[in-house]
Amino acid sequence: MGPAQETRAPEVTLDEIVALCKRRGFIFPSSEIYGGIGSTYDYGHYGVLLRNNVKGEWWRAIIGERDDIVALDSAILQHPRVWEASGHLEGFTDPLVDCRTCGLRFRADNLEDAQCGRKPSMHPGEFKECDLTDAREFNLMFETHVGPVKDTASTAYLRPETAQGIFINFKNVLQFARKRPPFGIAQIGKSFRNEITTGNFIFRTREFEQMEMEYFVPPAEAPKWHSYWMDERMRWYTDLGIRDDNLKLRPHGADELSHYSSATSDVEYLFPMGWLELEGIANRGDFDLTQHAKFSGEKLEYFDPEQSEAYVPHVIEPAAGVDRAMLAFMVDAYDTEEVEGRKRTLLRLHPRLAPVKAAVLPLVSKEGMPERAREIYQEVRARVPAEYDEGGSIGKRYRRQDEIGTPWGITVDGRTMEDGTVTLRDRDTLEQERVPAEELGDRLAAKLAEPWRSPKLG
Ligand code: ATP
Repeated sequence: MGPAQETRAPEVTLDEIVALCKRRGFIFPSSEIYGGIGSTYDYGHYGVLLRNNVKGEWWRAIIGERDDIVALDSAILQHPRVWEASGHLEGFTDPLVDCRTCGLRFRADNLEDAQCGRKPSMHPGEFKECDLTDAREFNLMFETHVGPVKDTASTAYLRPETAQGIFINFKNVLQFARKRPPFGIAQIGKSFRNEITTGNFIFRTREFEQMEMEYFVPPAEAPKWHSYWMDERMRWYTDLGIRDDNLKLRPHGADELSHYSSATSDVEYLFPMGWLELEGIANRGDFDLTQHAKFSGEKLEYFDPEQSEAYVPHVIEPAAGVDRAMLAFMVDAYDTEEVEGRKRTLLRLHPRLAPVKAAVLPLVSKEGMPERAREIYQEVRARVPAEYDEGGSIGKRYRRQDEIGTPWGITVDGRTMEDGTVTLRDRDTLEQERVPAEELGDRLAAKLAEPWRSPKLG
């Protein structure tokens, strides 16, 4: 899918996000000392913390705040028959064309988004020297071999989605979770796709993480639950600070629908590259359970004791990407402003997403301030994730915290030594107030629990 037309100028470029991620240790290109391996990234300290918070918020919304969904963590390597039954072996393909002139490969359905290898201002096929092959279907699954013998009998695949691990455990979960439709099974984990074209930083990579939930419902209720999950998932993003204007639901056209789906809507976000998919919400019908029942010989049904009959539940699936969500949260939060003649760059992240909630900073490294600040830091970190920093000027330390999105800064100064109060600085308003040090823990924990909206909304 190519980026849709958008007339609004992006507030931030992808290059600015990439630079901030590198500068502040969120994300590094993988295998950099060996020259890198295309479209593969390693997450550094703040990247890991932010990612964990994105996943934590998903678990909170899907499991923590509800009683009808249970968690699962299935294996990445599964029986090869899983992928026969799911249709991935045959149908999980993209059309591929090669250029005999430049040797590059392109997705035949995405030529308008690709650059010609010889003349980058043109699309593949437009330059007079282009010599494209016919399109052929290319399977996106990574093949590997299980065990010491590398033959066809040992072929296995790295999972291209987490969903199938859920379907093949339907019976186990039904037995142990004591649930009845409507109920869901959720999982977060790595998936792998040998994408023909990658790019746009962590938007499309070959190794990525998904947050998927399969919600099993009585067949007649499927449309109702599909629309319910569309609302819920849109709300998740906006509750975490994504601005309404940058988010939309786009129903798939009949020609776009996957083989298993009777209706899908994408949650799209206005990335710097245009409107692109963040999450897909599909009505998968009974396709998956029926296929696995057929291929495995196991009955994958729910016996309804009230009706005294068994049926195959239909499935509603919200399927989101951790990496794409993280990118969207960073893009939406990125801001620059001028304060007293100096440019300030900051991430106005929802406090619950921010990698560090509070930074404790002694004003200067003398007069007992570092010692007192360290004591306060120990108290604060017991309540909210915090960081202590005494290196460099106070301005420099604040700039660093602004760029990693820390919502609250605590400065220990001369007055702290006299009356026990500290300054509490707000990342977004830059307001500072004096607070007794012993109240900090309660104050910060309460602030973290408050509803929050992006200050960019005014
Ligand atoms: P696309 O059309 O962008 O290839 P898709 O429709 O194939 O995505 P799904 O199979 O619906 O994606 O997967 C669910 C979610 O997983 C996507 O919405 C996206 O957030 C994430 N995802 C899928 N492929 C990738 C990838 N290669 N890199 C990063 N995230 C991905």
